[in-house]
Amino acid sequence: QQPTLEEQTIVDKPSYSKIAKQVADHYNTRPQFGIEKRQESTIFHLRAFNNWIKSVLIGRHTDRNDKVLDMGCGKGGDLRKWQKVNIRELVGMDIAQVSVEQAQDRYEKMRNPGFKARFYSQDCYGRPLTDTIQPKDYKANIVSLQFCMHYAFETEVKVRQMLQNVSNHLEIGGRFVGTIPDCYWMVKKLRSLKGDQLEWSNSVYKVRFEQKSKYPVFGHKYWFTLKDALDDCPEYLVHFPTFIKLAREYGMELLYRTPSHQYYMETISTPQLNNLKGQNYRNLLFRMNVIDEMGRGPSPDEWEVTGLYLAFAFKKVRHWSSS
Ligand code: SAM
Repeated sequence: QQPTLEEQTIVDKPSYSKIAKQVADHYNTRPQFGIEKRQESTIFHLRAFNNWIKSVLIGRHTDRNDKVLDMGCGKGGDLRKWQKVNIRELVGMDIAQVSVEQAQDRYEKMRNPGFKARFYSQDCYGRPLTDTIQPKDYKANIVSLQFCMHYAFETEVKVRQMLQNVSNHLEIGGRFVGTIPDCYWMVKKLRSLKGDQLEWSNSVYKVRFEQKSKYPVFGHKYWFTLKDALDDCPEYLVHFPTFIKLAREYGMELLYRTPSHQYYMETISTPQLNNLKGQNYRNLLFRMNVIDEMGRGPSPDEWEVTGLYLAFAFKKVRHWSSS
């Protein structure tokens, strides 16, 4: 039985928590691989597929001249995707200072990016963005949280702070888009484990839960390992009905939540989605090396990991203000 929101006790203050520091350290100490090293990686096609999903999501919701806020931009892996859709401006933020510096560097090395960008190191789920963002009333047309929002689900306080930050800096009519692990997929997998088993894995990833007797809405922690990427990093399940309910409180309504494999199938099999704003997403699968020139795509083990994620999109429909 899931506890209701009202039954949740808020125990922590919105501060730079121990877990947030652990997550920041994790990403700060990850080596940056060059293109050759990335091509040799056992998760090469998995990364390519996740990049393709982000390209589709970004392409679907972004218009020429849009302003973008990326709350968890990492090393700037999405810069080219934003360039492709002709945005006007990007504000990139991340808790990991080293990643932010790498994103800034990557931007500076782009030839004719076609958009302005600035980057800030900031805990986007534990603090108001107004701590750092300039101007303080910055408003974007798109707020993007790619493969990072689940870190906010440590507590209700953090989720609310994250949603306040999104809504405060999003225009009415603007989109809030992201990718996160699919809690239904994860819980189904956890429940299918025999006896007191709490972990599962294949050759590229491992998920380890701490318990399976309770399913709290916030703070349902697991440890995630992904070959060549993450080593036992603490993460949290995103209870999607709670996410929808809270997002509504901050003036945002769900457009869709679609598991990655379904998103892929829908995109390539629906002509209006496959050919959008001058892009052909089926061809992009080849250009982005999801399928390489030898016809190789993600291995079965990589494919299992890609299926763990979902894509979501919300629209800001109402004004929301903290005052
Ligand atoms: N969005 C990037 C991408 O798709 O390439 C990076 C994804 S990486 C898997 C997750 C990112 O979330 C890391 O860069 C991490 O530092 C960032 N992150 C985690 N907690 C955060 C927080 N509280 N505030 C801002 N960024 C955070």
